[in-house]
Amino acid sequence: MKLLEDRILRDGIVKPGNILKVDSFINHQMDIPFINELGREFKRRFADSVITKILTIESSGIGIACIAAQYFDVPVIFAKKAQSLNLDGEMYIAKVESFTHKRVYDVILSKKFLTEQDHVLLIDDFLANGCALMGLMEIVKQSGAVLEGAGVVIEKGFQKGGQMIRDMGVHLESLAIVENMTDDSLTFRGDN
Ligand code: 5GP
Repeated sequence: MKLLEDRILRDGIVKPGNILKVDSFINHQMDIPFINELGREFKRRFADSVITKILTIESSGIGIACIAAQYFDVPVIFAKKAQSLNLDGEMYIAKVESFTHKRVYDVILSKKFLTEQDHVLLIDDFLANGCALMGLMEIVKQSGAVLEGAGVVIEKGFQKGGQMIRDMGVHLESLAIVENMTDDSLTFRGDN
């Protein structure tokens, strides 16, 4: 998506450790008209899917998911992060290894908000090694809901997550795929 690629080139900052900071417009300060265009694009890319809920993970995914949800006209649910939890019958629980924080944590979702009647679209800000999306997919699996696909704003194509999730047959849409990044250059894959 050219609008997104141009904005990353203009305002994105590459940090050591393969981290791309987009906190001036996506995940700290949020440019709402801009994110609104991302939401519209997610709807265009999943126009053929019947979606009943959008599932994301706290915290950076929530704002994006809420804006996208207005195009899908469905509720947003978000998995909460918890340091560690005893199993509780009323919760779906999955383990996620954080790329940015380098630790393993549980993500939880109340069972009452996701059932086998649901058709779910996952939304997140970044896709790196795929751990966050895998955790959300595990929650969807536990619920018996149908996974319709996953939409991420920025995929880091040089990390393994995108390939792994596509290989699982999931309909994955990334609005921009960063092919390569260094302090002074950033390239994108194909035309997204
Ligand atoms: P994964 O679980 O796919 O390895 O990483 C995805 C999660 O880590 C996202 O939810 C995102 O919050 C965070 N993340 C991964 N890479 C980056 C990055 O380069 N920049 C930022 N800001 N967050 C990232």
